[in-house]
Amino acid sequence: MVTTVSSSTALVTGAGRGIGKAIAARLAADGHDLVLNDVSQNADLLETTAEEIRTSGRKVTTALADVSDAAQVKEMVAKTATDHGRLNVMVANAGIARVTSLLETDVEEWDQVMAVNLRGVFLCYTEAARQMIAQGGGGKIIGAASIVAYRPFALLSHYSASKWGVRGLTQGAAMEWAKHGITVNAYCPGIVGTAMWDLIDQKLAAEEGMQRGEALKKYSESIHLGRVSVPEDVAKLVSYLASPDSDYMTGQSIMIDGGIQFS
Ligand code: NAD
Repeated sequence: MVTTVSSSTALVTGAGRGIGKAIAARLAADGHDLVLNDVSQNADLLETTAEEIRTSGRKVTTALADVSDAAQVKEMVAKTATDHGRLNVMVANAGIARVTSLLETDVEEWDQVMAVNLRGVFLCYTEAARQMIAQGGGGKIIGAASIVAYRPFALLSHYSASKWGVRGLTQGAAMEWAKHGITVNAYCPGIVGTAMWDLIDQKLAAEEGMQRGEALKKYSESIHLGRVSVPEDVAKLVSYLASPDSDYMTGQSIMIDGGIQFS
């Protein structure tokens, strides 16, 4: 059962497309007002998403920012407080994937993956917590991990390490901010048919001598529920984590993968 919220503003990063877009649409349907973030290169995509979600009748604003940049994240949260008067839910969804063997991963690529996937989540978590503590009344902080936060995919070792880091960060943040009434949890999708998996499929197929589409097919054979995930599967979990129904849950990284792995 989904509890409809009242007077809540949720900020979703990486909301221009994919899982972030589905989360934004679902949170609007649940009754949250929204701040949608993406990088400036995807400004048009973000505005299209915002226009679509405004048809829900909720207040929807946008904030272009690179989540790996401390000053930009600070400004994004400040803009949220100015435009909406509060921040109740932070969904640190933005992330990037790279498919490279460890021995071919250079420091630049390592740093790029960590900067967006782990530093970006750290910055979004901490700036959101500062705002929530200042305004009072608690809040919900939610991050994008992955099933690779429990068992890595080969050739995605740096990506897996970044998501493993999000799981640890989520636990530490939950411990530190429980006294402020802030819960901190992460979602761990499996194989979701988005632009990210188009890239992973293309690279894995090349590495393993397969045609495009074959890597996705091969990895999908491990899904017990028998289909590739859609972004809305993940959005349903985030809807719960953003709602009062999850008030007694914190520090968890929850797999939503159709039964690839079991905790
Ligand atoms: P996607 O590539 O389709 O969308 C990601 C969005 O994030 C894009 O709009 C992109 O522009 C934005 N973004 C990238 N870097 C950013 C930055 N520095 N600042 C702000 N925005 C940025 O990816 P997706 O499949 O929708 O994935 C969303 C999240 O879910 C990611 O964190 C990803 O790692 C995680 N995830 C995805 C899958 C999957 O199978 N697709 C599985 C597990 C976890």
